[in-house]
Order: sequence, then C-alpha cells, then structure tokens
Amino acid sequence: MTKQLRERVKEDQPQLVSQFEKVIRHNKLTHAYLIENQDDLITYEFSLWLAESIFCLTKEEGLPCGICVNCRRIESADFPDVNVIEPDGQTIKVDQVREIKQTFIRSGLESRKKVLIIRQAEKMTTSAANSLLKFIEEPDGMMYVFFLTTNLNKILPTIQSRCQQVYLKPVPKEGIERALELETDFSNSQIKIIAELADSKEKAVELSRDEWFNGSKETITKWFHYLTNHNALGFVFVQQYLVKIAKEKEQQFLVLDLLLVLYRFRLNEEIASQGMNQKQLTKSIELIINARQKMEANVSFQNVCEQLAWQLLH
Ligand SMILES: [Zn+2]
Repeated sequence: MTKQLRERVKEDQPQLVSQFEKVIRHNKLTHAYLIENQDDLITYEFSLWLAESIFCLTKEEGLPCGICVNCRRIESADFPDVNVIEPDGQTIKVDQVREIKQTFIRSGLESRKKVLIIRQAEKMTTSAANSLLKFIEEPDGMMYVFFLTTNLNKILPTIQSRCQQVYLKPVPKEGIERALELETDFSNSQIKIIAELADSKEKAVELSRDEWFNGSKETITKWFHYLTNHNALGFVFVQQYLVKIAKEKEQQFLVLDLLLVLYRFRLNEEIASQGMNQKQLTKSIELIINARQKMEANVSFQNVCEQLAWQLLH
C-alpha cells in the first residue's frame, strides 16, 4: 500500500519529487511545510517520506531506504520522534498541541530532531495554531512540522505565511479557468472565483451552471461589500437575506466559502499594492475560517453568520 502510493506520487509529480530529492540529499529541508493534495493519504505518505529522510539509518544515494528499522517504524507510525496530530472530533485543539509539546520536552527536544505531522491542518483552531507556531519558532528547537491539507484556502493565514508551500498535485487552476472560459460567458473575475471554489474542471463547470449559486452569488458579494465597508447593515443582512437563501447545509458552507475567497482576493490585491489593510484582512480571514469550523461543529448557520458579521464589523 505504502510503496504503491509512493510510486503514484512519483509518477504524478516527477518534478516535485526530484526537486525534493535534491533538497534531501543536501540536507536542506526547511522546518515547516504546508502540503496540499485533494487526497489526504497522498500528503500523509509524502510527509512520512520526508520524515524518513531525516531519520533513515542507511540512506541509498542520499535518499531514505524504506527498509531500515527507522524507516519501517516510521511507516508503521511507531517511531518516538515522529508524532502525528489529527482532529479530535471536528477540530485540532490547543490541548492536543500542548500534549505533544510535553511529550517532546520530556524526551529532550534540544538534543534530537523531531517531526510533527499535522493531518487536516485546516481543522486547527486559532489557539492551537498559535501555540504550535510559537513552539516551531523557538530558535534552538530541532523540529520539523509538516502541515497537511486538502484545501489550502481553509488554512489559517498565520500558518501559510510561516511555511513553505508544496502543492503535491498542483491544482490546475489555469486548466479549470480555461474550461470555464469555453463553457460559460462569465467575466474573468467570476471565472477566477469559481476556479477557487472548485477543485476540478467537472466541479467548476457544475458550479457555474448551478442555479442556486448563480442566483445567490450577488447577494453574498453584497454582504462582502457591507462587511468590508464596515456598514452595519452587514449584520441584519444575515437574517434578512442569507438565512432565507441558504437553507441547505451545502449552500450555507458555500456562502462562507465564497466570502472567504472574496476576502482572500482582497488581501492579495492589498499585498500587491502594499496597502495598509493587510493585517486587518488577515484577521478577517482567520475569523471566517473559525466560523466555518463552528458550522462544522453544528452551530446554526444564523448564529455563525451573525457572530461573524459582528466580529468583522468591529
Ligand atoms: Zn531507512
């Protein structure tokens, strides 16, 4: 299973793999990576391979052998210096991070290299992420952290900015955009938005034809404008419009996902023009990601959106 997956990564991503082989041979791994692929198993396998490259006893041409005792223990999740954190319920909580810290400190962080793999990193709460980032940045630590995600858009900006980002299967955004240009007569900016929301051509085309989405995107965009202009109407808007248009769970998530994309685009513009609002927009993105996590934990759509609007307006 493991070997097959690894071969698949190699086949899919020859360039990326050879690039990493170079990095490994020269011992140039950086301390924090954010790795994206739609398939959680692929990113996990890749992160194990990176971990093996750190601990392998008998490297073959500078690469992990996959058969020594360390490599095998890492593969079977039985190696003390490689720890994995996964969501406990809907989120990864600060207590889980604290627990790992304790484990690391007890076993002597200073003297030995450690690897921490965070699966479904998009489910980290803000406090868990902050606690972990502080830990990574301690200067004498010899720690490597691999954040794994199926969706980079849902990763907290604080994590994104501190990691080197790796797209295991570069989500072919250009390909998606081209497909949409052929299939729709949407404007360029609309096409970019849909390409962000969908992770494949098929889903993008489907979304571009979705009656609910096409009927609602303007309303959601209007909400975005109220919020970013600090117009108090952004709060009552939730009850007056959003709750009425988004009745199904899937639609409700799409409301937040679209809002998130709009904020990310705004942040990118702001970064490009070296604007003054980068910090505030980053904070807003964090709040939207938190709101999404709450909805996943079954807090009602109206509560989540009203609280979010209130926070974004203040
Ligand atoms: Zn080995």
